[in-house]
Amino acid sequence: MLHFIASEKSLSMANQKLESLSNVDPLTGLLNRRTMDYVMDQQMADLHRKGIPFSAVLFDIDHFKAVNDKFGHLIGDQVLSRVGELAGHSLRNGDFVFRFGGEEFLMVLAQTTQHQAQEMAERLHQGIKQLRFEHADLPAAFHITASFGVAAVDSTETNVDELLRQADVALYQAKAGGRDQVCLYSL
Ligand code: GH3
Ligand code: MG
Ligand code: MG
Repeated sequence: MLHFIASEKSLSMANQKLESLSNVDPLTGLLNRRTMDYVMDQQMADLHRKGIPFSAVLFDIDHFKAVNDKFGHLIGDQVLSRVGELAGHSLRNGDFVFRFGGEEFLMVLAQTTQHQAQEMAERLHQGIKQLRFEHADLPAAFHITASFGVAAVDSTETNVDELLRQADVALYQAKAGGRDQVCLYSL
């Protein structure tokens, strides 16, 4: 009987561990998209209840396919991991960053206007440019750039899908405008 209780307990612990692992992207250690919906809904609830605005910053590494092609997939993975780490370190309390897709990340910035989100995006944009990637097999260090799309909600008429759409439109503008830049969504 005791054994049964113990194994029930370890099963429940294993389940908890699995549940938390399934929210984390193993390569970058960042939260994955599964948690994003929950976080977005919470931010939206704060906006509805207290009128607190929040922002989304969607960013994507430029020409990342070329990084894999030139330096190999393992170095590509290291790039993703370092970018994720830097993004994680640039957050304030209450902010989140998710690995949104392959080389695409989403920051959700609590209590943040579009102007403040732009400042955070500009800082991370510069930080990413300054990262140096070195490897014994590589003749020289290389650098990368990223493109950013920034959108904010301050009206209760907007929803999460619309905010993400706006950030995506702004990111597309950044790419179309030559990459390596931050663009704000504007109507
Ligand atoms: P753009 O500037 O337009 O964003 O070009 P890009 O090359 O960054 O974008 P594209 O969508 O053409 O290529 C993205 C690449 O990212 C292709 C895919 O193999 C790579 N990728 C996605 N996930 C991972 C990963 O986990 N590790 C590595 N090493 N590469 C990945
Ligand atoms: Mg890319
Ligand atoms: Mg992409």
